[in-house]
Amino acid sequence: MIVTLKRGARPRDVQAALTGLGLWTRALERVGEPAAFTILEHSAVVAPERIRQISGVDEVWMPHSAHPLVDAQPGWSAGVMLAAGPCSVESEAMIHTLAGWVARCGGTHLRGGAFKPRSSPYSFDGHGEEALRWMREAADANGLAVVTEALGEGHVELVARYADWIQVGARNMQNFALLHAIGRTGAEVLLKRNPGATVEEWLLAGEHLLAHGASRVVFCERGIRALGSTTRYLLDVSAIAQLKHVHGQAVVVDPSHASGRRDLILPLARAGMAAGADGVLVEVHPEPHHALSDGPQALSPESLLQLSGELGLPLSSPSWSRYDATPSR
Ligand code: PEP
Ligand code: MN
Repeated sequence: MIVTLKRGARPRDVQAALTGLGLWTRALERVGEPAAFTILEHSAVVAPERIRQISGVDEVWMPHSAHPLVDAQPGWSAGVMLAAGPCSVESEAMIHTLAGWVARCGGTHLRGGAFKPRSSPYSFDGHGEEALRWMREAADANGLAVVTEALGEGHVELVARYADWIQVGARNMQNFALLHAIGRTGAEVLLKRNPGATVEEWLLAGEHLLAHGASRVVFCERGIRALGSTTRYLLDVSAIAQLKHVHGQAVVVDPSHASGRRDLILPLARAGMAAGADGVLVEVHPEPHHALSDGPQALSPESLLQLSGELGLPLSSPSWSRYDATPSR
């Protein structure tokens, strides 16, 4: 971005005002006097209209952004999002029990997999439409929104019929045909980051969704590939801070998939929130040791209650409509 100055403007005052907005500047000089400032990469995101209000500013020139629709998304103002539930919806009774706990813990969204991406073709991969129906009923009975993954293009219409928010799984972040199909439903989308994706690629995936009609994209950091194997992935707290503070995006931290270990969920959730996350996605199971998927990272319902208390969430059952989530059904 280039900010040009009016004739007679005081460059130092303009520069101070720009710096005050979180912008890093470099002067572009004309015969010894700054005539303009370049706004450097990694500055805060500030609307050009705000910069034009600074006394002495003549014009603001914006370079082409690769993700203008993402940049234009309004900031998150809907309170803390807590999306909790099992990795896989294993039975009707289980999801009803958990929905009650999620609501009691101040949760806003019931999460759960009906179509599961599994590394092995022999692993349990979800109960499909039945699970969607169970989840919808359990969420409705407890004033929660439903967020669940559409694993492939063929599932999108079905998932959109039951879910309020459609989840794009980490493995599908750059499955552009899927992103376009999800976008066409007009849904609100929780976009997980692929473990090998850069922040820019993640933002561009969001742009694909919005360009095809998605009404809102919330970004979910769930860990990237790293050295070592004591945790499943590495929670990229710096990406959360960038998404929030540089790009002005809504971002959710997923300490469950990032760590793969229930003992690290609370500290990582705290780290994510401290870095600017607007919410937490966490897995919970009535009997973690018997879970059909992701058991080692599942919290017990009692631990979820403790987590929400530690995060300072109201321990009641809010109506999800308070959180500005419009159902896509
Ligand atoms: C999930 O949330 O259940 C899931 C499969 O996560 P990810 O896509 O981040 O691995
Ligand atoms: Mn899982």
